[in-house]
Amino acid sequence: MSSSSLVAIIGGGPAGLLAAQRLAAAGHQVAVYEAQATVGRKFLVAGHGGFNLTNAEELAPFQTRYGPQQTAFNSFLQHFSPSDLRQWATELGIATFVGTSGRVFPLKVHKPADLLRAWVDRLRALGVSLYTRHRWLGFAGASGLRMRNEATGEDYEIQPAATLLALGGASWSKTGSDGRWVSALEEIGVQCVPFAASNCGAEVAWSAFFQTKVGRAPLKNIALRCGPQRVRGEVLLTEYGLEGTPVYALTPALRAALAVGTPALLHLDLKPDLTDEQLLSKLQKRSGRSLPDFLRQHLRLGPPVPTLLREVAPLEATASPEAVAYLLRHVPLPVRALRPLDEAISTAGGVAWTELDAQLMLARRPGTFVAGEMLDWEAPTGGYLLQGCFSTGAWAAQGVAHWLRQQ
Ligand SMILES: Cc1cc2nc3c(=O)[nH]c(=O)nc-3n(C[C@H](O)[C@H](O)[C@H](O)COP(=O)(O)OP(=O)(O)OC[C@H]3O[C@@H](n4cnc5c(N)ncnc54)[C@H](O)[C@@H]3O)c2cc1C
Repeated sequence: MSSSSLVAIIGGGPAGLLAAQRLAAAGHQVAVYEAQATVGRKFLVAGHGGFNLTNAEELAPFQTRYGPQQTAFNSFLQHFSPSDLRQWATELGIATFVGTSGRVFPLKVHKPADLLRAWVDRLRALGVSLYTRHRWLGFAGASGLRMRNEATGEDYEIQPAATLLALGGASWSKTGSDGRWVSALEEIGVQCVPFAASNCGAEVAWSAFFQTKVGRAPLKNIALRCGPQRVRGEVLLTEYGLEGTPVYALTPALRAALAVGTPALLHLDLKPDLTDEQLLSKLQKRSGRSLPDFLRQHLRLGPPVPTLLREVAPLEATASPEAVAYLLRHVPLPVRALRPLDEAISTAGGVAWTELDAQLMLARRPGTFVAGEMLDWEAPTGGYLLQGCFSTGAWAAQGVAHWLRQQ
């Protein structure tokens, strides 16, 4: 297969599909090659977990969610903004609404598969060729790609005019995002930052007693702290540790702390809405009552809180009202590890930024662009992940179009 004007998009996730749509709409001949039997598998998984497409936050704070890469993301987000994403969904017949904490969701009547179906229909209408079960194996010469038709086992080469790699990160490998592409990039000297779990649970070595007694239990309206970073929300105690949005948001800080020493300490504030004075004054009224009863009746801290306090704190930590007040604010949770990479909602690591020019083109391989989660960035949940994939996909598509014009 060879075409001098073909743009090959490798990877049928949100980054690749959006790039395909924009390039085809601009009049380019586009083919998407996807290793799985269907496109958008991780997109559908995201859909089952709440389908948080983007966030209604203003662009200035929005870009800070991408941490060290925020300056680059400022350009990507300006080019394809959260409003552009909502508009894109609307044009596919999917209306969105802003939920709690600014998260943007499709209206409940729209299933994730409806959005994907409408999107694929639009791509086909634009003339995009979709090759599923076609795996990219590596590069061939200056512009060629080695491919395998997984259905027939046949290997072949294509010579596209430009290539966009959007191969995803390295979690939920059953969706196709297996990170196996790293070796093909390293073969041509492209440096990739090792993958690390992001937006994932944390492991705490609970005692057997705690695991049996507590099992899985939510702790609502809490704040969780790692070093100076503090996040409000709800966590879930599990038999292996902790899950929940605050834990996910703290994964970069936890990862850094674990690199210095194990365990890394998280601190749980069980009463973030009370001032220290209010908390102490309530606890001073305890007199002879048992701590579990008092916590339940006067501070609405029923099970599993007393068991948790017994698990992580020595007896003297509950010896006085002052000590209990301090403990309720700083419940120490010793984290021994992050959960395994494959379970993570997203991954940090991937193609190093030093390998790319401002258009997201590989400096070592002119005409080959990179977008989505395979780039080395991370962001919290809340719509920032998909927005990052869409925005980098749109940006790289613009880079492809510009590059083709110059040739
Ligand atoms: C449980 C879960 C919930 C999530 N919820 C949300 C959410 O609510 N909001 C949010 O913003 N984000 C969410 N995400 C994250 C979001 O789904 C991802 O960030 C996003 O899908 C990444 O898009 P991508 O296009 O970069 O890569 P992917 O979606 O991973 O797509 C990459 C594609 O490349 C294909 N591929 C890989 N290697 C090859 C190869 N060699 N040849 C051909 N094809 C290949 C893969 O099969 C895959 O289809 C969630 C993720 C998970 C796991």
